[in-house]
Amino acid sequence: MDVIQEVSVVGPRQFRNNDVAIGAGNEFWTACRSNGLAGIVANLTGDGMLEDPDGFRFLNLSCCSYLDLDSHPQIIEGAIEALRKYGVLDHCISRIRIQLPMLLELEEALGGLFDARVVSAISASAATAGVLPLLASGHLTRGERPLMIFDKFAHFSMNLFKPVCADETTVLTCPNNDLNFIEDQCKRNHKVAYVTDGTFSMGGHADVAGLLELQDRYGLFLYFDDSHSLSVAGSRGEGYVRSQIASLSDDTIIVATLNKAFGSSGGAIMLPKSRTDMEDILTRFGGPLAWSQPMNTAAVGASLASAQLHDSPELKLRQSQLDANILRFDAQVLTPQRGNGFPIKVVPVANTRVVSCAQELLRRGYYVSPVFFPIVPRSQAGLRVMLRSGLSPAAVDHLCKSIIDVVGQDVEVKHDQDATVQ
Ligand SMILES: *Cc1c(COP(=O)(O)O)cnc(C)c1O
Repeated sequence: MDVIQEVSVVGPRQFRNNDVAIGAGNEFWTACRSNGLAGIVANLTGDGMLEDPDGFRFLNLSCCSYLDLDSHPQIIEGAIEALRKYGVLDHCISRIRIQLPMLLELEEALGGLFDARVVSAISASAATAGVLPLLASGHLTRGERPLMIFDKFAHFSMNLFKPVCADETTVLTCPNNDLNFIEDQCKRNHKVAYVTDGTFSMGGHADVAGLLELQDRYGLFLYFDDSHSLSVAGSRGEGYVRSQIASLSDDTIIVATLNKAFGSSGGAIMLPKSRTDMEDILTRFGGPLAWSQPMNTAAVGASLASAQLHDSPELKLRQSQLDANILRFDAQVLTPQRGNGFPIKVVPVANTRVVSCAQELLRRGYYVSPVFFPIVPRSQAGLRVMLRSGLSPAAVDHLCKSIIDVVGQDVEVKHDQDATVQ
């Protein structure tokens, strides 16, 4: 049975099916672990490598810290200094009641950087858990419950809340980036909200210009999770979506993790400056946004240090190094993602060989994550490689050479696949 295929079920399991998800996932992870490709234990060595307890050193090419800010000395120092200054990691009380001044300082700094009103969260997932149910119930759309449309490719952290949203309003799923579907629903419903990734994990973006047009015409509410492009895109690291919107309208929210390219920990919710009402509702009723754990002192200190780096020439420098590494990789290894400007590449490898290829690459010092059936359809199996700004040109060249050497004849990309990648 191809578990990837959708089945329509009435009643329970309209929006999730753990039997199917765990059936596929368990098989995949068990295969990874039994082949030494999951469950790895290793420390960072300080020179960009990882080292396991036996002293085996390797390069991690499955890490989302695209700008290598995660180990930046100023960010580490920011975390330590904040802990020393405030003397507590987490004072365990809802921020509605009492909050450390540093949390407000961070939200101010991020707001300046992203030109928005920013509310922090402990993660992008927690931000989504807080926002989506309140969007569904109409509390972010002035009392009008919107029909909610989730993009088919929306990240799991959003899909997880479909059943919760569906308890408040009608929830639909649309094909990826299908503006006609969305417009059709806008014509039939007074208020519609669309939930999507801003930048998809395999490259490609939401059609921001087209969506803004629908917003102009029909008052479409837009909820973007742009976790994958924060820091990577935009002159101040505001991410792809924010960089495409002149000023956030009343009906737009962008969330993003601070844990990927931003290099710290936590999440940011960008709200329109005009909607101070949203902030109160979110911090009072937004589930994990309102509970007793705000971003902890170390995360806030690290994030403040990262915000400073985002406001310095270092951001542009790292963005350019990443771009150069992406181009360098693309020039040598053919993937369906070639030319899309995004750091995640999947080198196609036959399902039967993907585990042994990943093992051989690890033996040669490169950890790349194999993706294979049943977690993806057999035709999409391959080695997922995530590029970072800190890789030297020589390291990228050696990586490419090793991939070609190990994968060999399997590097073959159909041109019709190229065309689907934006
Ligand atoms: C990585 C990712 C997340 C998870 O972010 P957390 O801050 O760890 O919750 C959420 N959404 C998208 C689109 C992501 O890529």
